[in-house]
Amino acid sequence: MVRRQILGRGIENPRLLEAFLSTPRHLFVDEALSERAYGDAPLPIGCGQTLSGPYIVARMITLLAPERSDQILEIGTGSGYQAALLDKLAGSVYTVERLEPLAKRARENWKRAGCAPIPLRVADGSLGWPAEAPFTAILVSAAAPTVPHALLDQLVPGGRMVIPVGDVARQVIKRLVRTDSGAQVEEFDDCSFVRLVGRQGFDE
Ligand code: SAH
Repeated sequence: MVRRQILGRGIENPRLLEAFLSTPRHLFVDEALSERAYGDAPLPIGCGQTLSGPYIVARMITLLAPERSDQILEIGTGSGYQAALLDKLAGSVYTVERLEPLAKRARENWKRAGCAPIPLRVADGSLGWPAEAPFTAILVSAAAPTVPHALLDQLVPGGRMVIPVGDVARQVIKRLVRTDSGAQVEEFDDCSFVRLVGRQGFDE
């Protein structure tokens, strides 16, 4: 998986490759899907949600460029796979999931995979995690109709956010850097994520 789908598609950061190699992806999906866990495709994780394919996970993390000095907020814990990777690359990671059954499974997955437990809150992540703010970086792994201003407000000046923005069917990955007056925005790949559902996301 790492050689073909990540290194083979131009992602060469050694710390990131090492994080992928030491995080058993098959332990983050249902046992019945474990044979497909290392394929080049998204996988269902329950509650109608999906874990993105390995390349897109690597791409989002590459755009965020996590460092040891970062305090990261992830929105959309899902299986806990991406949070586990981020935790190996950043100083600290906080993650928010809106669906309790997925949050419960993510905690079990971290344990099974030998990962350290990660602070996880069951809540509407479109509003961020105010009590733990500010963050130096935010990664949103669900698609938003617009960039939630609550999230931008919880970034330090110079802080980064990577987020898919668009309509339900199709989005573009945006990277924002918070400035004094707002944010600088760049656009990257087209993508298709499940919806961010919440006050500053899509309606239920
Ligand atoms: N990063 C995950 C995959 C995320 S799928 C992984 O590694 O497995 C997107 C997740 O975002 C789903 O679990 C979905 O329930 C969650 N989500 C959607 N809207 C949300 C919101 N407002 N707050 C928190 N989580 C949300």
